[in-house]
Amino acid sequence: MQKIRIERTAHPKQKPADIEHLGFGRYFTDHMFLMDYEEGKGWHDPRIVPYGPLSLDPAAMCLHYGQEVFEGMKAYRTPEGKVVLFRPDKNMARLNLSNERLCIPQVDEELAVQAVKELVQLDQDWIPDAKDTALYIRPFIISVDPHLGVHPAAHLLFIIILSPVGAYYPEGLNPVKIYVERNYVRAVRGGMGFVKTAGNYAASLKAQDEAEKQGYTQVLWLDGVERKYIEEVGTMNVFFQLGDEVVTPELQGSILGGITRMSCIEMLRSWGYRVTERRVSLEEVVQGAESGLLKEAFGTGTAAVISPIGELKVDDKHLVINGGEIGPVAHRLYNTLTDIQNGRIADPFGWVVPVDK
Ligand SMILES: *Cc1c(COP(=O)(O)O)cnc(C)c1O
Repeated sequence: MQKIRIERTAHPKQKPADIEHLGFGRYFTDHMFLMDYEEGKGWHDPRIVPYGPLSLDPAAMCLHYGQEVFEGMKAYRTPEGKVVLFRPDKNMARLNLSNERLCIPQVDEELAVQAVKELVQLDQDWIPDAKDTALYIRPFIISVDPHLGVHPAAHLLFIIILSPVGAYYPEGLNPVKIYVERNYVRAVRGGMGFVKTAGNYAASLKAQDEAEKQGYTQVLWLDGVERKYIEEVGTMNVFFQLGDEVVTPELQGSILGGITRMSCIEMLRSWGYRVTERRVSLEEVVQGAESGLLKEAFGTGTAAVISPIGELKVDDKHLVINGGEIGPVAHRLYNTLTDIQNGRIADPFGWVVPVDK
């Protein structure tokens, strides 16, 4: 594995004073990781340097055609003061899945995890210690060739930045209000919905903006073809408890395969729940809400962890789920997952990885 060169900052920044109100992704730490790719040379010169602006040619391809991929993960400090990551190998495997879709050369997953570990270790004083906070990790790759022709790039930059964060939604663990999006679609099969790339989020901004203006936190996306089946919510996968079955839309090519989703399925099965990955129609959920079969709905993702859905607006219907309260399944998932991630309970799954090994 290539050795990562470290250049420390001579000017450490002031840390945010008000760690109760960090928000999400507003502050950045003292260092960042960089690594270049050049055709013929491969990925080279992995290095950690002081955090700061990049110098890019205005013709850099990523700025014009969106050849970009990213990941989102978190570092936590345990009660013993150890710094840990959650399933970082899964993030880097997914990064390579995204790379493959975007014609970006594969990265060495072990080196990428090592880069995260060394960067987090160096900036570990930035890990906030208030409840429900963490150090968010954003690895991403951009194409930087100065070319306006539409082609896969020959020069790329792999970057990792870190941000101390609080709750993703101001609601925290309180249920969010979501509406079902009828006009816009996020992704279709054959597109890029199954990977983390900038264009998917550019496509989602309009709907999210309209949802916020109407007092909703996010939108629930339907499939882009029949507009019948449920896909996911903004930056979260979605689960429904219908009777004694917990269902989540199957990964069929337009849905992002969340690591939180995967972990929730594994936890629920280990507790004896029947979890099914299958197509879930909007009609089934509406009928479930009206008949009482629908007990709970919640979103899952690294940023928000578990986000209960208290109200679902479907056209002119306002479906209130579990009386607008967090349900027992979402609550247990949230508690167990955050306890494992923060090292407050033993990790029976082998998901937690220390940064110093
Ligand atoms: C990142 C993301 C998720 C959640 O994935 P995790 O690995 O659980 O963080 C879900 N949907 C979309 C669209 C995402 O970008």
